[in-house]
Amino acid sequence: MDSAPPRELDPTEGGPAVYFDGSSSRRHQVTLGFRDRLELDETGEPTVAWSYDDIRRADGPPGVLRLRCVSAPALARLEIRDASVASELTSRCPRLDEHAPGRHGVGAIIGWSLAAVVSIVAVIVFGVPLAADRLTPLVPQALERRLGDAADVQVKAIFGDKVCNGTAGQQAFGKLMDRLRETAGLDNSVLASVLATPVANAFALPGGRIYLFSGLLAKAENPDEIAGVLAHELGHLKHRDGTRNVIYNGGTSFLIGLLFGDITGSGALILISRTLVNSSYSREAEQDADAFAIDLMHKLGRSPKGLGELLFRVTGKDVDKNLSILASHPLTEDRLARMQAADRPPSGPPLLTDAEWLALKTACG
Ligand SMILES: [Zn+2]
Repeated sequence: MDSAPPRELDPTEGGPAVYFDGSSSRRHQVTLGFRDRLELDETGEPTVAWSYDDIRRADGPPGVLRLRCVSAPALARLEIRDASVASELTSRCPRLDEHAPGRHGVGAIIGWSLAAVVSIVAVIVFGVPLAADRLTPLVPQALERRLGDAADVQVKAIFGDKVCNGTAGQQAFGKLMDRLRETAGLDNSVLASVLATPVANAFALPGGRIYLFSGLLAKAENPDEIAGVLAHELGHLKHRDGTRNVIYNGGTSFLIGLLFGDITGSGALILISRTLVNSSYSREAEQDADAFAIDLMHKLGRSPKGLGELLFRVTGKDVDKNLSILASHPLTEDRLARMQAADRPPSGPPLLTDAEWLALKTACG
């Protein structure tokens, strides 16, 4: 190696800097001298000296230490690019970051951030239910999609990633979903799939994802039962219950994510998507989704009674909250009673033919 050795610097000798005298825009190439005061030496010019106590940091570009001096002309600035010279100088200036009262500097920025944090904490402690209801309609669809995508990864990690896409079964499922979706007035951004897992469940995620588990298909006895379940999940989508749940349960990380526009931040997102997959909806949200399902089934000329009967078959009288998300829905008996009260003789055609129903039942083999 024959490169030049690093420049040795005698701290008391100072180093190079650029000085603006505050009265002209001329750049003065000066040599700093660390004596009892900071001396700015320029060949052929009288030496300028700044008291260390009077030196303050000024706003400057990255990599440049820019300084001013309270006892010098207001616009006089000193710029130092050499890091070792800069650190030697700053170590001698005890009041470098001190600001006159009323100045908007670092202090003001810290104060502002603190105010933001305090207001977020206040929202979380006192106003999350309120905030969840108010914020939910404001969450953009693109953000819901990203939430749904992240939660989808969690769902597949927990329940397996085997999507049943056997041709005949998939066609029957698509036909059923389309009829429900179109009758409900929802656009085709709904992404529904059947997952192969013995868990008897179904649920919806923000961004339009609906999952039907083959374990629930196995327990279903007719297409109206499954249609009722899917209609219920469409109700959750329509009411954006998943997104509201995220704000409610994942409050802190979600609000901070919203504030800093960093909802994709990996840690927060994983936390949020876990919340989404593991938590159940409020009783009110369930009742609203049931009302939506009853209404939708009536519009299709079919009875919502099957939904109540399927839920009752799956959960029985005793609700095991750990069994599944569907099972954690409150008071299955009450729901069955409500669906039975809404029972009507069919006035519309069957939603699936016998052959289609068989194909759907066996969609996962
Ligand atoms: Zn539900």
